[in-house]
Amino acid sequence: MTTLQLKNIVKRYKGQTVLDLSLDVADGERLVLFGPSGAGKTVLLRLVAGVIDPDEGRVLIGGEDMTDVDAEHRGVGMAFQNFALFPHMSAFDNIASALTARRFSKEAIAAGVEKVARLLKIDHVLSHHPKALSNGQKQRTALARALVGSPPLLLLDDPLRNVDAKLRFEMRLELPRLLAAQGATVIYVTQDYKEAMALGDRIAVMFEGQLRQIGTPADIYDTPAELEIARLFGDPTINLLDVVPQRGPDGAFAELSGVRLRLPGFGPEIVGRACVLGVRPENITFTEASAVGAIPVTVEAETPLNEKTVTLTLTARRREILVSRPAGMPGPQAGPAHLAVNSRATLLFDKGSGRL
Ligand code: ADP
Repeated sequence: MTTLQLKNIVKRYKGQTVLDLSLDVADGERLVLFGPSGAGKTVLLRLVAGVIDPDEGRVLIGGEDMTDVDAEHRGVGMAFQNFALFPHMSAFDNIASALTARRFSKEAIAAGVEKVARLLKIDHVLSHHPKALSNGQKQRTALARALVGSPPLLLLDDPLRNVDAKLRFEMRLELPRLLAAQGATVIYVTQDYKEAMALGDRIAVMFEGQLRQIGTPADIYDTPAELEIARLFGDPTINLLDVVPQRGPDGAFAELSGVRLRLPGFGPEIVGRACVLGVRPENITFTEASAVGAIPVTVEAETPLNEKTVTLTLTARRREILVSRPAGMPGPQAGPAHLAVNSRATLLFDKGSGRL
C-alpha cells in the first residue's frame, strides 16, 4: 500500500493544456477517475506510471518524489483497456513478464503466476496464446499481469471496456473483493457510472483536464456539484427542468404543471432566478389525482430499460419527464396520470451549472 500525491500537475500537448490538477490518494484507497472521453483520465494514469512526464508539478508515490524516476522503478502495476498482451507469448509468460525483470527464482515466478491465475479463474488457459483466449480471458490475463507482483500502487485503465456485458457484471462484483485482498492503492478509470459507484471508495470526476468534484459515490450521486456531473450518473438519467422559483408562505417553490413543489432549504435568495430543477427518476412516484401536491401529467410511452425496469416518458405541459418502475407489474397506461415528487430529494442548479 502507498499514498499518491499529484501536486499542481500541468500537462500540455501542442500548446493545449490537457491536464491541470492536484490530487491526493490515501494509502489503500480505491479511487475511480470518472468523466467523459477526452477528460484526461488516461493522461493522468500515464503520468503516474512514468510513461509520460508532466510539464509542471510533482508526482509523489509513498511520500517520495518520483517525478524524475523511470517507469520501471516506480513500483506501479498497470492494466490497459486494450489488454496490450504480447501475442507471441502464452498467457503464463505474459503474466510472468511482470516479474522477470525482478530476478525471482523460476519456482517463485510459477507460484506467483498460478496463484493470481486461480484467483482470476484463468489457471486452465495459462498455456494458451492470446489469440486462443476469449476477450474476457485476455482481460483477466492483463489484470493478472498487473496484480502478480503485488504492486503497492495499481493503475487500471478501463479494464472492463472490452468485455461483454455478462462478464462486466460479474467482474464489477468480483473486482472490489479482489482489489481489497490485494491491499494495493488503486486508481481505476472508467466511463461507466455503475462501475465507478461499485468500485470506488471515492470518485474523482474529471472534465477537460480538471478535477471538478471528488467524494464518495453517495456524495456525488446525491449532491453533485454541477449539472454536468448530475447528468453523468443514473439510468435513466436525472430529469432537468427549467424553473423560476417563486415566494410561498413556507419558503420557495417551483411550479410544475400548475402545482407548487416546495424547495426545502431555499428562501428569497432564489426567488425570480432562472434555475434548473434536478429530479432523479427514482424520486418520482405515481399517485392519486386527489393526493396533496399531485402533479398532472400525460403518459406518452413505455420503453423497457432492462429485465427489471421499464422507463416511462411523460409530459407535464410539454415538458418531458422520465420515470422508471419495476417491469412485470401493472402500471399506468398511456394517457393522464398524476405524480408525487419527493421534494427533499430534488436538486437545484443555477443556469451557470453550479448547485445552489
Ligand atoms: P480520457 O482518458 O479521459 O478519455 P485522455 O487522457 O486520453 O482522455 O486524453 C485527454 C486529452 O489529451 C485529449 O484531448 C487527447 O486528445 C489529448 N492527448 C492525449 N495524448 C496525446 C498525445 N500523445 N498527443 C496529443 N494529444 C494527446
